[in-house]
Amino acid sequence: MSKYKRILLKLSGEALASTEHTIDPVTLNKVVDIIKSVLSQNIEIAIVVGGGNIFRGAALAQAGMNRITGDHMGMLATVINALAIADVCQKNKVDALVMSGFSIGGGVCDSINHVRAKQALNKGRVVIFCAGTGSPCFTTDTGAALRAIEIDADIVFKATKVDGIYTSDPIKNSDAKRYDSLSFDEAIEKNIQIMDVSAFALCREHNLEICVFSMLENTNTLLDILKGEPLGTIVRK
Ligand code: UDP
Repeated sequence: MSKYKRILLKLSGEALASTEHTIDPVTLNKVVDIIKSVLSQNIEIAIVVGGGNIFRGAALAQAGMNRITGDHMGMLATVINALAIADVCQKNKVDALVMSGFSIGGGVCDSINHVRAKQALNKGRVVIFCAGTGSPCFTTDTGAALRAIEIDADIVFKATKVDGIYTSDPIKNSDAKRYDSLSFDEAIEKNIQIMDVSAFALCREHNLEICVFSMLENTNTLLDILKGEPLGTIVRK
């Protein structure tokens, strides 16, 4: 039995991409297998997906675009990713509901509603949140913290390419050591780039743990952590 009943998984857009595809079908299937494995343990799962595989406002602004317009494009990119994940969920008989941080008409997806999100999670549906916070100048990490608070999630799982937070970049520095746990204050003070300061600060204020882990290398890792294995790095009070 896991100590967690409801989790929020933050996936970056880049996690969905491969060298050939902006949204890689093989990766999507892996993500859905992971979702299924969590649901099979009677643990509720919501997802916040990023959009960095398609657009990021900061990069668009650097190329000359208005930053706010760029951020709108970045948020719309997350909607595309959410629709792709939901599609593969439905194909695999996993009931998925997409909720956007801003309203989108035409039956594309629902708008954020914390009550309906919790009702859907209660029924074993996976809720995929997109459009981050719904406002420019934020990131989907902050969106993840916000949605996790709204749905009363027990923890935020932040999937990254490395298996936790290290004393320095483990790819560049073989002496780098992985932290088992860190406090929010330490994460902010050390300027840990894995999540932005506003996401850490929101989680600190609401006493919401974050687990930083590597998800796609071994698709059992999330389940192993849920079962109590000490993998990844926990950021807590
Ligand atoms: N974005 C935004 N407000 C939000 C969340 C995201 O304006 O609340 C925009 C921003 O331009 C960002 C882009 O959407 O660069 C994609 O999100 P993010 O960079 O967080 O995606 P990830 O790195 O997780 O793929």
